[in-house]
Amino acid sequence: MKRRDEMRIESYRERAVRSRRRRERELKKTRFILMNAAIALVVILIVFVVAIIKLNGKGNSGSKDYTQENIKKKDTKKAKKPVMTATPAPTKKAVTQNTGVGAKKWIRTDLDKDKPMIALSFDDGPYTPVTSKILKVLKKYDSRATFFVVGNRIQTYKEILKESYDMGNQIGSHTYDHEDLSKKNKKQLISEMRKTNRELRSVIGCNATLIRPPYGNISDLMRKVIKIPMMYWSVDTDDWKWRNTAKILAGCKNVKDGDIILMHDLYPSTANAVKKLVPRLRKKGYQLVTIDELFYYKGIKAKAGKVYASGRK
Ligand SMILES: [Zn+2]
Repeated sequence: MKRRDEMRIESYRERAVRSRRRRERELKKTRFILMNAAIALVVILIVFVVAIIKLNGKGNSGSKDYTQENIKKKDTKKAKKPVMTATPAPTKKAVTQNTGVGAKKWIRTDLDKDKPMIALSFDDGPYTPVTSKILKVLKKYDSRATFFVVGNRIQTYKEILKESYDMGNQIGSHTYDHEDLSKKNKKQLISEMRKTNRELRSVIGCNATLIRPPYGNISDLMRKVIKIPMMYWSVDTDDWKWRNTAKILAGCKNVKDGDIILMHDLYPSTANAVKKLVPRLRKKGYQLVTIDELFYYKGIKAKAGKVYASGRK
């Protein structure tokens, strides 16, 4: 009897152990599944967050692009503005021609035509550290000048260029790349003109009405292809060579009515010379004018493709 009882107890125990093991196995399985599910959830969450961050980043740069596009669009609009004048709309062919109401700014109508005039001209800029100093002097002495700018510098120095234009200074073209135009073919010449004008229009809203050929070199082809007057000078200060204020001033000692003075707004010595030269000339009774003003008051009708060196006929 005892033995049978023992056997029964034994089998109970075995069953209990077996069922406990089963439960444990099941618990383990559930835990494993739950763990995996949790890991998967975390991974999904991470992927999701990363995706959102990426999307945000893209969204930002996207909106930046959009603004840039907008600015470009605005510029094009601005650029097209001068077309809405009496001047015929510039076709692609005629981009090099004098266009725009913007260029009218370069002629003041309240000057005294009987008083002597001199046109200061600056090549190779803009260059803010020097150009800004020159502008300050011009403003102080109610004077203006002509700046022949290099096209590929315009975007870098557009603020000072705009300021210069707003003050009434004339902005001329000194080509886009400052290369010797006399060695270029027709296509290259047109490209140099067009690229510079495109930059000019994006900042000041109009094309150049005058060009100063780099190195003063002019070919027959240039006379035919370039649809605006070409400018030389009557007084060369050689400021780029001297880089010396006293020598630049000495070069301007014998200036006279109608002169066009050549300088470069790249050198501090040039800015220093201007600081002394402008009040000196004003004291002598000279009106310091843009080249368009000089031609206007001296009765010179400058023609496309022709070369001019002074306001004297
Ligand atoms: Zn130059």
